[in-house]
Amino acid sequence: MQVYADNAATTKMSQTAIRAMLPYFDNIYGNPSSLHSVGQRAKEALDAARETVAGCLGCDPREIIFTSGGSEADNQAIISAARYGEKHGKKHIITTAFEHHAVLHTLKKLEKEGFEVTYLDVREGHNVKAQQVKDAIRPDTCLVTTMYANNEIGSVLPIAEIGAICREAGVPFHTDAVQAAGHLHIHVKEQNIDMLSLSGHKFHGPKGVGALYVRRGFPLVNLIEGGAQERGKRAGTENIPGICGMAAALKESCDHIDENMPRVAAMRDRLIEGLSQIPHCALNGDRVNRLPGNVSFCFEGIEGESLLLLLDQKGVCASSGSACTSGSLDPSHVLLAIGRVHDVAHGSLRLSLSEYNTDAEIDHILKVVPEVVQYLRNMSPVWRDLQTGKRQYIL
Ligand SMILES: *Cc1c(COP(=O)(O)O)cnc(C)c1O
Repeated sequence: MQVYADNAATTKMSQTAIRAMLPYFDNIYGNPSSLHSVGQRAKEALDAARETVAGCLGCDPREIIFTSGGSEADNQAIISAARYGEKHGKKHIITTAFEHHAVLHTLKKLEKEGFEVTYLDVREGHNVKAQQVKDAIRPDTCLVTTMYANNEIGSVLPIAEIGAICREAGVPFHTDAVQAAGHLHIHVKEQNIDMLSLSGHKFHGPKGVGALYVRRGFPLVNLIEGGAQERGKRAGTENIPGICGMAAALKESCDHIDENMPRVAAMRDRLIEGLSQIPHCALNGDRVNRLPGNVSFCFEGIEGESLLLLLDQKGVCASSGSACTSGSLDPSHVLLAIGRVHDVAHGSLRLSLSEYNTDAEIDHILKVVPEVVQYLRNMSPVWRDLQTGKRQYIL
């Protein structure tokens, strides 16, 4: 049995999304900027996709900019707010300590330019409280950027409350909703969100395409200069197949949230319940406000990388931390941010589910993970020291 449980890294494309893309590789290959009929057919598809995405987010189609993915959308949102802020003498930004690197590394760049960044603590409850945002806002704050849901540990942030606080204080609010779009209901107007990033490949759409919602009137800065595509805010001939595939995948996911997500959450809860029985482990992330598909644990006395390799041999595709950090030996910044010490953070496992997973697959994971954890512990000198009392258990 082969179980794909790494849906936070990327998802399998839906048949709906694939079918929505094919005509634009084939017959409808025009450039939407061309005035002739071949180009205009592509332009119609682009307009329709923009309306679909706007419909899923509760905004106007003119407020959607298509990008190359979630990372580009995050970069553009943050840089835009920073440039607008500094024009008005405001160079303070609020974020959380467990953001995606697309956000954190953009902020690091701004810090080198003299911006000051407040990283909200996420140790308590593995989440932030809206009050922490309120307390951190200053007269010179030009942006609050907090993710909608965390990609490693699944915590879902109180976005509507943060949005209300920011709106009242007159501070622009951006959210990286890459893990939330298609999985949780989003309404940017009701939630007072000024900018929001999403990415096609996290909800069964194609890779390399995403979107940025920007509230009308907010001054965007271009990251890519060139032609007048995307209302002059993002140059380059549009990725029409990708955009159409993403729009179709987003609509399909959003239309079925109430039907799919309770079933995914039930599989998640069965995994959490079963894996919690393993001695000396700890669940990472908010227990209550949690992505329907996220299961994240730390197991004491083992290396996450060895766990992943053995799980792969037993047919389970999982992840330790995020895909972006694997390959490096540093433990995940997210696990450190919630207060896990280095040794424990190294023994992490993330299983991320989608509506394509089945109960039989959950049974398989529940059988295999405890076996592999025990096997690795039996070989581990650290585990031996823990058992003989030479070293103290942390978990
Ligand atoms: C995947 C992801 C991104 C990056 O999106 P890409 O489309 O791969 O650039 C950004 N933020 C979060 C929370 C993600 O999970």
